[in-house]
Amino acid sequence: MTTRAEKIRAVEAAHVLQNYKRHPVVFVRGSGSRLVDTEGREYLDLLSGIGVASLGHAPPALAAALAAQAGELLHTSNLFFHPLQGEVAERLARMSGLPRAFFCNSGTEAVEACLKFARRYWRARGDDRHEIVAFEGAFHGRTFGSLSVTAGEPYRTPFAPLLPGVRFVSPADPDQVRAAVGGRTAAVVVEPIQGEGGVRPLPRATAAAVAEACAGTGTLLIADEVQCGLGRTGRLFYGTALGLVPDLMAVGKSLGGGFPVAAALLSDAVASAVAFGDHGSTYGGNLLACRAALVFLDALENGLVERVAAAGRRFRQGLDALAADGGAVREVRGAGLMWGVEVDRAVADRAVDCALARGLLINRTAGTVIRLLPPLDISDDDVDDGLRRLRLALADAGAAPPAS
Ligand code: PLP
Repeated sequence: MTTRAEKIRAVEAAHVLQNYKRHPVVFVRGSGSRLVDTEGREYLDLLSGIGVASLGHAPPALAAALAAQAGELLHTSNLFFHPLQGEVAERLARMSGLPRAFFCNSGTEAVEACLKFARRYWRARGDDRHEIVAFEGAFHGRTFGSLSVTAGEPYRTPFAPLLPGVRFVSPADPDQVRAAVGGRTAAVVVEPIQGEGGVRPLPRATAAAVAEACAGTGTLLIADEVQCGLGRTGRLFYGTALGLVPDLMAVGKSLGGGFPVAAALLSDAVASAVAFGDHGSTYGGNLLACRAALVFLDALENGLVERVAAAGRRFRQGLDALAADGGAVREVRGAGLMWGVEVDRAVADRAVDCALARGLLINRTAGTVIRLLPPLDISDDDVDDGLRRLRLALADAGAAPPAS
């Protein structure tokens, strides 16, 4: 007899573009940090839809708010006002210090908008500055602009040629930043913690060089906080921890708790260069998206950041203990609830499948890094359970045997 999961996989195999190499599991419902598949099997989710299900799965407050909003009004387009967009923008402005927001639907659109607005700023000044400085290891998305500032060749090569004038520098070398940023640079774009690149915080000396080079040349600074921003690291924005004061910022992922919503945040100086019609989005910041964002921002402003910081300390302790076991763990990097566990290649190759077999969702990035991005409101019990399962999964994958 064909199972429900088999039927679902078969229809996808026939009709869905085969650009994702999916794990064979089919999830049908969730609650908190737990997901349930078609067979009724429960999983602990330490990935939260790649840092998106920030309030856990099917959070009652978000579900109720979305249902109520859907029953009232879903979408009106950006040709008209609605009551919620300004409210979300005001809250994001208060948090980020960047007073204007452009709403869109995904991280790559937010970065794309930042790149366009940076160009627009220089064009409005009658200056043809258009070069961008980005970092080796960076991931900013897959649309053409964002892809052009994304470093990995496998992402780029099949789609060349990309935007001209992009220079990549090493995050480990502040001198390269100083040498690359000059009078022709429109913007520097930086992830305060590289996510897809292996959970690598920007070294402080490099962050200082970025700040100094931007200030010295008038170059705009774009902070891509899509993955590491909005509480993920136990701070509202990780760039602040590095002393970065961006002119533009991209946020997304956590913002809608699972509903697609993202934003480019702009300084007044940049915003004043953007004219009616310069950029737009049919869906961007619609009522449902803004309702979701308001539920998330409510949580963020009411103790969620502090909760992330506390859960993050618990994770750090557990991961450090794992590293101290002398198994396959080479390094632990990150902050709050964004962790990268560098492991031996052979272990990395098997770890995700072994974790799945242990009822645990994790992800591998940059070849040898196990990435953890749990829901921001994960409980202490689930942190402990996650660490226990991770230890077992790594042992299954060939690391040192678990301590009894
Ligand atoms: N920027 C960063 C730092 C990201 O981590 C991602 C996605 O992983 C993106 C941009 C692109 O976001 P999206 O997949 O929502 O387009």
